[in-house]
Amino acid sequence: MQPQVDQVEPGVPEELAASVRRAFEESYGGPPARVGRAPGRVNLIGEHTDYNGGLVLPVALPHATYAALAPRTDGRVRIDSRQAEPWEGTLDDLAPGGPSGWAAYAGGVLWALREAGLGVEGADVYVDGTVPLGAGLSSSAALECAVAVAVAPDADRADLAAACIRAETEVAGAPTGGMDQHVALLAREGHALLIDFGSDETRQVPLDLAGRTLLVTDTRVSHALTDGGYGSRRDDCEEAARLLGVPSLREATLDAVEGIADERVRRRARHVVTEIARVTETVDALERGDWDAVGATFRRSQASMRDDFEISTPELDAAVAIAVEAGALAARMTGGGFGGSSVAIVPDERVAAVARAIDAAFVLEGFRAPAHLVATPSGGAGLVPLPA
Ligand code: ADP
Ligand code: MG
Repeated sequence: MQPQVDQVEPGVPEELAASVRRAFEESYGGPPARVGRAPGRVNLIGEHTDYNGGLVLPVALPHATYAALAPRTDGRVRIDSRQAEPWEGTLDDLAPGGPSGWAAYAGGVLWALREAGLGVEGADVYVDGTVPLGAGLSSSAALECAVAVAVAPDADRADLAAACIRAETEVAGAPTGGMDQHVALLAREGHALLIDFGSDETRQVPLDLAGRTLLVTDTRVSHALTDGGYGSRRDDCEEAARLLGVPSLREATLDAVEGIADERVRRRARHVVTEIARVTETVDALERGDWDAVGATFRRSQASMRDDFEISTPELDAAVAIAVEAGALAARMTGGGFGGSSVAIVPDERVAAVARAIDAAFVLEGFRAPAHLVATPSGGAGLVPLPA
């Protein structure tokens, strides 16, 4: 039974696919060849560890992006979205240094897939979805991966992930680390996905929530991963690895990190090294069903993101603290930070109370009203069958 809480609904896949198909036909005057679907995600733990060769533990949301697509052969690209303005140009216009804004994500994938020899010679695309934009729930990778599976549904998922990562980092200019695209493409229902960016291995971790809900709270303070904060964290991590003489912070020990002279670089590296350890601790605790241990690990993660990595915000700190006060077993901010969402593990019977307590605290603090989502662990990207 779903707990009663005012929430952003994921929508029904068949209905959303039918609706995006209709919108495609209205925009372009003919039917799409395929509709791709890819989910947003909530990261349980492991923040800013992907680009440091570390571990992450995301879960795919039931909320997803749908891309209706018809290939073209004339090099032209037309993309439109229920959530954004249309863009039109050529495949060559979509190379790095090309469009800014959302076309870089959607169109960038078309460019990167062609570069990888998996693409099409142009396309018409229409996009719609229920993943909130800029909420730290990875609408960007949901968009990229929905387009990618619509272009090349049978391609190897690792190749699709690589093309989507190129679109995001090289065309859109967001220096993110690859977690989002992997989980959008590889997630399995009822599981979290443990990704090891040191070995490039993934493992499906059964997530038996039995009587508990993953409650996501979007603080509606929008982050922008292209505006410098994310990149400067990444630079600090690279500097730390250079100072320690290791290829990535995955290879650094806490002892070595504590010896870094620069106070800021030391704190950044300390977050990464301790956060990677916390991912392993969380997986172990989940496998034992030890929710107290998950709670303790999330608490230390939140403190590390607030104090050492400095990516939390007053809204996120408040959402996390209030969730725990109101009965959550575990809570932390999730995603790249500087805004976005928190995630809490809440006994089903406390979900409505936790959401209401956060809403009330936000009114008192003068924050924007937050939005809540129930994150039922869902499956990864694929085609949605079109009715005849
Ligand atoms: P997040 O991935 O956490 O939602 P990002 O800043 O990484 O935040 O990506 C958000 C951007 O992705 C939006 O500003 C927009 O450019 C693009 N985007 C995502 N979903 C859509 C969509 N359905 N339609 C148009 N653009 C989208
Ligand atoms: Mg994103």
